[in-house]
Amino acid sequence: MTAPRREARIRLDALAANVETLRRTVAPAQLMTVVKADAYGHGAVPVARAAVDAGADWLGVADLGEALALREAGIRAPLLAWLHTADPDFRGAVDAGVDVGVSTRAQLEAAAAAGASVHLKLDTGLSRNGIAPGEQPELFARAAELERAGRLRVCGLMSHLSGASPDDDETQRAAFANAVAAARAAGLDPELRHLAASLAALTMPDARFDLVRVGIASYGLAPDPAVDPAGLGLRPVMELVTEVAAVRRVPEGTGVSYGYRHRTAGETTLALVPLGYADGIPRHASGRAEVAIGGLRHPQVGRIAMDQFVVDVGDAEVRVGDEVVVWGDPSTGAPGADDWAHAADTIGYEIVTRVGPRVARVAV
Ligand SMILES: *Cc1c(COP(=O)(O)O)cnc(C)c1O
Repeated sequence: MTAPRREARIRLDALAANVETLRRTVAPAQLMTVVKADAYGHGAVPVARAAVDAGADWLGVADLGEALALREAGIRAPLLAWLHTADPDFRGAVDAGVDVGVSTRAQLEAAAAAGASVHLKLDTGLSRNGIAPGEQPELFARAAELERAGRLRVCGLMSHLSGASPDDDETQRAAFANAVAAARAAGLDPELRHLAASLAALTMPDARFDLVRVGIASYGLAPDPAVDPAGLGLRPVMELVTEVAAVRRVPEGTGVSYGYRHRTAGETTLALVPLGYADGIPRHASGRAEVAIGGLRHPQVGRIAMDQFVVDVGDAEVRVGDEVVVWGDPSTGAPGADDWAHAADTIGYEIVTRVGPRVARVAV
């Protein structure tokens, strides 16, 4: 007895092509490829390597654990981590040559204690981490003092957009530009000003400044429903595939899966797919999504369970062992992760980052 094949195929060629496309799009700004959360579920080390080989100037991660894992894997590119505890120890970051994003006075002092290279993270309206607007004057003055004393280097100023609306993002962009001017007046001279993630990098040229931090678009998925990645030359990197585990011919009126949320409308063939919500298939998409088998799309029917779901393949000739593409590149006829996101009332980010541990990541 063997387990069914369950693979997230990671198209590193598509990732590299996306990085090259993004680099051309945002030039002369530099490109940071964001590889936090295991490269959005794609595998941080192979993705980081492929991104750097394809020309990414920087890599970005959320925390220092993620940054140090990349360094241990031998990845030498400029690297920034921006989410820390209230009272961090940055010596490991300095030893590994990792820049740190700093959001508070305590983090600034920790950076000085370690001699870190710092990007001051400003809250321009998201109300998450980042230095609150009222604290910025004092923090800029203190950072300038520490820099003059040779205790740290401020090489970047950064903020992050809400994506609430183009007007809201423009308000944040203006607030960021004002904060940069205030930092300069306080004696700082950061060489990298960065604000834009995927959405603004693609749609708001004024927001690109010196560097953009691009995550989701690198993986060929949409940062916003208004953006069509394929139209921008970006291809999905992850293809989630498995094999048909069972096939059954059933009569009209047959109840399918928990709660009989689906009954067959006529005699048909049901194919069993050995992936469930434990593997990242969103239960909320039950009865609303499709998969591709043999190049044809078929509807998923009934409740998605922990380990399996059912597809109604009608009269198509589907056999046990046939490959099932749950999501992949829509240009091949398969549904995209963004289609599953739509079916589950969520975003592609959540679909790809939640693929579970039973699914092998296979770089191709
Ligand atoms: C996750 C993240 C990004 C990347 O966002 P995308 O929308 O995936 O491009 C950029 N900057 C920060 C601070 C982030 O946390």
